[in-house]
Amino acid sequence: MFREVVYLKPEEMPKSYYNVLADLPFKLDPPLDPATGEPMKPEKLLAIFPEPLLEQEMSDERFIPIPEPVLREYAVYRPTPLVRARFLEEYLGTQTRIYYKYEGVSPTGSHKTNTALAQAYYNKISGTKTLVTETGAGQWGSALSYAGAKFGLEVRIFMVKVSFYQKPFRKLLMNIFDGNVVPSPSSLTRFGQKFDGEHPGTLGIAISEAIETVLKQNDAKYALGSVLNHVLLHQTVIGLELKEQLKKLKIIPDMVVACHGGGSNFGGTILPFIPDVLNGKDIKIIAVEPESCPSLTKGEYRYDFGDTAGLTPMMKMYTLGKDFVPPAIHAGGLRYHGAAPIVSKLLHEKLISAVAVSQDEVFQAGKLFARVEGIVPAPESAHAVAYVIKEAKKNEKKTIVFTLSGHGYFDLSAYINA
Ligand SMILES: *Cc1c(COP(=O)(O)O)cnc(C)c1O
Repeated sequence: MFREVVYLKPEEMPKSYYNVLADLPFKLDPPLDPATGEPMKPEKLLAIFPEPLLEQEMSDERFIPIPEPVLREYAVYRPTPLVRARFLEEYLGTQTRIYYKYEGVSPTGSHKTNTALAQAYYNKISGTKTLVTETGAGQWGSALSYAGAKFGLEVRIFMVKVSFYQKPFRKLLMNIFDGNVVPSPSSLTRFGQKFDGEHPGTLGIAISEAIETVLKQNDAKYALGSVLNHVLLHQTVIGLELKEQLKKLKIIPDMVVACHGGGSNFGGTILPFIPDVLNGKDIKIIAVEPESCPSLTKGEYRYDFGDTAGLTPMMKMYTLGKDFVPPAIHAGGLRYHGAAPIVSKLLHEKLISAVAVSQDEVFQAGKLFARVEGIVPAPESAHAVAYVIKEAKKNEKKTIVFTLSGHGYFDLSAYINA
């Protein structure tokens, strides 16, 4: 058969998340309390995160069971398919085999639902009533709104202002799931009031506004859609399924590729492959980021804040600096100044590598993929597509697997000038 798709049966869905920290031969540098410069006391973080998520953040258990109510919700769209990009291969005339793991089948169109559902569940059982968050392009805000609706939580979202106006359908989608979304900087927080009405907003500012809101309100907790250890942990369902699917194909990939904003889709895809890399398997693992927000390829490896106001603990990561204002590129989900501490450490230890691609090649790649494979990629995911196309044009006999982290049907405005 020309078409090659690997579906897993519902019962083949992973029952546990995979925690790479159990297998790394080195330790992560701890988050620091900006007030003291000492490692952050977990109790202090209880003001913004519920206990089960904080436990996961610091856990070194290799496998953490996925709670039954979360598995039930995953069954709405998981396991997700692994597809051979035969039409793309044919178009490129390449000997390289290309597979993509497609996360766009989730209810809000991206991988973000994987952690949104888990975070909503753990908050619910911890007594949280309201979840507050920020969103860049809007995928995280819609995923958390959906998860909040599923588990009975109110969801409030600070959306980066440029995206709020560029992407009205994202806002409508959040509203369908009863998410309450405002553009950031807003006048609802003291931090937001510091910026004038023209400011385009950044993820860093939106995070500051969300945390300020949580600290003011009892029963409210903060939810982050990327960067943190527990977020990457939840996303490992992607990589665990992927490995299972590759096993059925009897394939060991030469290269695993994913786009990188804060590191959740990348981490979720590649972390389950790290033990193989540590065992000497020759698998190249590559993070793809935008040239205009090059945290991994141009950032410094040092302690920095996760937000602009400096409310979060300091984390050791590749960073462009908390005050970096990325240009208003269309791949809104990749406009973050930093990177996940786990991804940063793996890069620093040279277990993975990172590349940057230009906005122009990204949208050309996205359109080509849409024409031949029939899915318009999310602008973020199109970064991975762009890099994979470049690799495949080398016409080498090898297998590349990448994650198509979402579809772009709510982000079509990004393609207007492409
Ligand atoms: C948010 C998002 C990203 C980037 O965030 P990561 O945490 O780096 O994964 C990538 N792709 C899609 C579709 C997204 O929604």
